[in-house]
Amino acid sequence: MKKTYSFPQGGLVFEDPYAPPQGALTETAFLPVFSVIPLIQHTGNKAYPIVFIGEYVKEGMLIGRGQGQGSANIHATVPGKIVRMVSWKTVDGIANEALVIRMEGSFERLGKKEIVYQWIDLPPSELQRLIAEYGIVEMDEEGKPIADIFGDLATEKEAITVVIRCVFDNPWFAADRAICNERIMAVVEGSLITAKACGATSIIYAVSYKEKQIIDNIQKTVQILHDSESVNIPIAVVSVGNRYPQHNRRELELVLREYEKKENILLGRLFMVCPSTASAIHDAVKFHKPILDRYVAVGGSAVKTPKVLKVRIGMRLRDVFEQCGGLITDPARIVIGSPLLGRTVLDLDEPITKTSYAVLALLAKEIGGTVPRSCIDCGECRAVCPVGIDPEALYKQIICIPENPPLVDCHGCGCCEVVCPSRLPIGTTIYAVSKGAHI
Ligand code: SF4
Ligand code: SF4
Repeated sequence: MKKTYSFPQGGLVFEDPYAPPQGALTETAFLPVFSVIPLIQHTGNKAYPIVFIGEYVKEGMLIGRGQGQGSANIHATVPGKIVRMVSWKTVDGIANEALVIRMEGSFERLGKKEIVYQWIDLPPSELQRLIAEYGIVEMDEEGKPIADIFGDLATEKEAITVVIRCVFDNPWFAADRAICNERIMAVVEGSLITAKACGATSIIYAVSYKEKQIIDNIQKTVQILHDSESVNIPIAVVSVGNRYPQHNRRELELVLREYEKKENILLGRLFMVCPSTASAIHDAVKFHKPILDRYVAVGGSAVKTPKVLKVRIGMRLRDVFEQCGGLITDPARIVIGSPLLGRTVLDLDEPITKTSYAVLALLAKEIGGTVPRSCIDCGECRAVCPVGIDPEALYKQIICIPENPPLVDCHGCGCCEVVCPSRLPIGTTIYAVSKGAHI
């Protein structure tokens, strides 16, 4: 049996009864009458709107042009009339603007056979151009534009390895798991396109060891592409642990360096890509298609029926929850992303964007109340910190001497906070300080 690589210390088993059931089939969400298309769909600068109020747009049409580094093109995801521009601030004070489309007219692509464009003979520069043209960003975490990452890699002196993160240490990665089950050919071909575009010398699929079917499907798909002579780069499947936060860049790099050493190979710089991004890169290059849909895990204790939905970008959260049977009652917290690392949302009119891999509506019982108690020195936080720091001591130091915060290597996994019986905001506070915030 193949070795499974796991990070050496800390972490926890992350289960959630309110996440979509494992293995559930994806449902395609209905198309809402109004779509809200933000001009920023990732951490970065907004795109410049190139359509006006009252104009009719087609499905897939460019409506916001990226303005250089940190910005990405934005496309209409439904046909219709631009009826207004709306603006709001996120809970962390970031201003956003969106174009609202009232759906009208016929779809250019939905339900139609896609035209297939060959990419094998295209030079890397043309692949990069297509990926930028169709506005592809990382579809998890902060959502850096892929064009910017290619720019960073252009000066790389070392070898480059593309790593596809099929690591499901967290039930809220159900959307990527569904993509692997339903679109594995697009994921694998997307990884080959990515590798060619950035000049990578190898590809690794890091897959949770429990996902035997996905491992098997990847190997079969690679073999099919190999037989059709589309593969001329070394590809390996590496079995990794399932303990949270194995998916994190730091923990994943730790285990891949161990694999590199054991196999006596050179991976060089790791370019990590989630399965959703790989399939979006495939669609941009092979179908000349922007990101129109997003697979999203929807759940939380306030949601009647948690599901994995295929949702058009721009669908408002209230419509998304409606598609899952609605909300049981008013939630205490709405989150985009996982419960540990996600972003709190104040308004159900906020839409699904390219980076919304999960959406949760939580009741007060799930967030455990908001009044922290005193530290009881139980040591639980120390036991789970994968970085090996002492969250309790750091937290107390930050609170007692805020003007002189310690330097810490926290990556905000949230493990310490989730196990703290006193509900102290240790992880949130330490991570904020590590990013330069003043408490
Ligand atoms: S949030 Fe930071 S301090 Fe807490 S467990 Fe994770 S890495 Fe350690
Ligand atoms: S887990 Fe919470 S209560 Fe326990 S030592 Fe850490 S901070 Fe204190």
